[in-house]
Amino acid sequence: MLTIEKTMQDYIELEEKFGAHNYHPLDVVIERAEGVWVYDVEGNKYLDCLAAYSAVNQGHCHPRIVKALKEQAEKVTLTSRAFRNNQLPFLYKELSELTGYQISLPMNSGAEAVETALKAARKWGYKIKGVENDKAEIITCENNFAGRTITIVGFSTEAQYKDGFGPFTPGFKSIPYGNAEALEKAITKNTVAFLVEPIQGEGGVIVPPEGYLKKAYDICKKNNVLFIADEIQTGLGRTGKLFAFEYDGIRPDVVIIGKALSGGCYPVSAVLSNKEILGVFKPGDHGSTFGGNPLGAAIARESLKVLTEENLVENSYNLGKYFMEKLKQIKSQHVKEVRGKGLFIGVELKPEAKGARRFCEAFMKKGVLCKETHENVIRFAPPLVIKKEEIDWAMERVGEVLNAP
Ligand SMILES: *Cc1c(COP(=O)(O)O)cnc(C)c1O
Repeated sequence: MLTIEKTMQDYIELEEKFGAHNYHPLDVVIERAEGVWVYDVEGNKYLDCLAAYSAVNQGHCHPRIVKALKEQAEKVTLTSRAFRNNQLPFLYKELSELTGYQISLPMNSGAEAVETALKAARKWGYKIKGVENDKAEIITCENNFAGRTITIVGFSTEAQYKDGFGPFTPGFKSIPYGNAEALEKAITKNTVAFLVEPIQGEGGVIVPPEGYLKKAYDICKKNNVLFIADEIQTGLGRTGKLFAFEYDGIRPDVVIIGKALSGGCYPVSAVLSNKEILGVFKPGDHGSTFGGNPLGAAIARESLKVLTEENLVENSYNLGKYFMEKLKQIKSQHVKEVRGKGLFIGVELKPEAKGARRFCEAFMKKGVLCKETHENVIRFAPPLVIKKEEIDWAMERVGEVLNAP
């Protein structure tokens, strides 16, 4: 086949012609990436301030993770769980040592891990708590994001996520985010779990009122309701702690992780909990062909090691503060609020700013990649390997755009 020099536009046309249109990406066609930098097919370079929705916390193509991937790919990639492999046991052990949770259950995508946690909670409700069969209720929050399966979009409050996809799974109850009293009121004898994001990511980087998670946790304990933290986006260092729930000094019964668990090199997710809760699964109850495969497990093991050995959690804490200060120094007429924790930062624009998308497009032209979330919020969540000078580089450009009319 002839190799013809292609422009960005050629790729975009191909994609529009042959792909389903369930996304509206920025028109940048990325060819390669390294650390915080990505390069398009025309040779332009950009600082990535999205980090694949926090899946590449360790930086793009981290050499250690890529090495682990290559080495494992040449040995064995998939055994299915019909047989055992020599990587998964160590992933289990290392996850437990790192997080303090007794056991875990591996899946692939975040949504699958959320589904797994919900299944565990329901089964725990029937087998351990003693809820009457098929009566289990799970409480979720307005403005949540937990993935795109039919069950999960069923408890979304985002009209577009649900439109045309019903009927939905029953057994979910929605309450306002950040309101502990609403949780207390919503609990009944049939409530088995409360599912919550410590900071709502897709919802617009919404940081709940101080002490909210602690209050909600105490309410759950009092009522024998499982507290499930969806840390798929906030976890693994993003907010300046290993888990965002640590800011509230709590210990959720169930923690869901994904995204950065593989440093962006492979889909790997997991549910962390104790033996009483995950122990409700017996052989045959639940599974996944790829879940726990040796390639994913080897990659996840190295990704966790990179996170701790390179002090990325601390870097997120320290440079997150620096990043936020820099953003606050930009005195833009368009900005309503800058908020976040660690390197998980949202800039909410005023309604008059006419949407975040146009700012993201302008950043892109200057070499900074961001994506709007919820019309008027720009999320800044670069790989956690980012350096001060790189933040300065980005902020100079971001400032130019935010200060323009
Ligand atoms: C991304 C995300 C998910 C879903 O993960 P997928 O891998 O896209 O299925 C679930 N919960 C939260 C909080 C997320 O950010």
